[in-house]
Amino acid sequence: MALKSKLPHVGTTIFTVMTNRAREMGAINLAQGFPDFDSPELLKELLAQKTSAGHNQYAPMIGESSLREQIARKMQANYGRTVNPEAEITITLGATEAIFSAISALVHPGDDVILFDPSYDSYGPAVILAGGRPVHIPLQAPHFRIDWQRVREAVTPKLRMVMINTPHNPTGMILSGDDLNQLAEVLRPTDAFVLSDEVYEHMVYDGARHASVFGHEELYARGVVCFSFGKTMHATGWRVGYAIAPPDITREIRRVHQFNTFSIATPLQLAIAEFLKQQPSHSNELSGFYQRKRDLFLRQLQGSPFRWIPSEGTYFQLLDFSGISSVQDAEFADIVLRSAGVASIPVSPFYQSPPHLDVIRFCFAKKDETLIEAAAKLRQLERVAS
Ligand code: GLN
Repeated sequence: MALKSKLPHVGTTIFTVMTNRAREMGAINLAQGFPDFDSPELLKELLAQKTSAGHNQYAPMIGESSLREQIARKMQANYGRTVNPEAEITITLGATEAIFSAISALVHPGDDVILFDPSYDSYGPAVILAGGRPVHIPLQAPHFRIDWQRVREAVTPKLRMVMINTPHNPTGMILSGDDLNQLAEVLRPTDAFVLSDEVYEHMVYDGARHASVFGHEELYARGVVCFSFGKTMHATGWRVGYAIAPPDITREIRRVHQFNTFSIATPLQLAIAEFLKQQPSHSNELSGFYQRKRDLFLRQLQGSPFRWIPSEGTYFQLLDFSGISSVQDAEFADIVLRSAGVASIPVSPFYQSPPHLDVIRFCFAKKDETLIEAAAKLRQLERVAS
């Protein structure tokens, strides 16, 4: 039987590869982005209560109303804009499903979709499966800003979507309100959508404020904004996310979502809704919580041969290893894993055509003791690798 792959160039995701290698080698896993500490006790208790109380059958296709209402309240509080929970919010299987369903619903064969490299690894394949053509525009190292002139030059009549991610995985860069204004200006003469992955919205540092496409009236009119409770509830294994978009766009996303995952685990949705009701301030404490972890990690790395620009957002920190080695990033990540026993993520898999890269990504969503132990191992690296 002839099998013709729809994604012939795609292997196993780098997150799975590095996590498996970390496990095999007994290394500290600062590779895949997930906390090594538990979700809030209250959240776990609420989940137990919801399942015991018999909430174990299908949830509504668009999501539990109590959860959508809590999300609407949270959006109003954070971004000062009203969202209609019935017509604009859809609960999805993590943000990955929100992104996948939105692309499947909105991108037609032959459409161009602009992606900024390094781009999260699910974006390109989702566009290709929809028959679209990913147009990769590199961000400008070392600060990984968007070159708006290049974006202007990439606009063609075939442009259907621009995907942005802020705070940005893997670089930790955040887009400013001015960036959003530039995007709005570029898109004004087009019929293109904006798909904005904002799963790290509550992790922004040094007093910065998250600039959301949801908070930008002009962009939101053509927008789909994706969020994730995995990040905000320290519960990546729950796989609960959501897409917010104007009613006409939401209608199209739901047409796909209903045949993709149909609906998301009922007790998980109800537990999160109740948690948001009882602890509405939880997500607003995350920036402080994670900034402290970022600062601890970087303080512990003082005196190491790494260099860095402190992450502006997300729970990822890039470390520049050009003072230690001139090899490509994947090879260096391998050296760090074997010699220091710390797993990281190279950045090159997030590029269509990777340039020479001398940064690798570390996740600091870890217990303080994990960060201290990992940093101590990384401080030893100069001796090992040079
Ligand atoms: N979002 C996680 C990260 O960036 C990975 C999730 C996954 O493994 N698909 O590390």
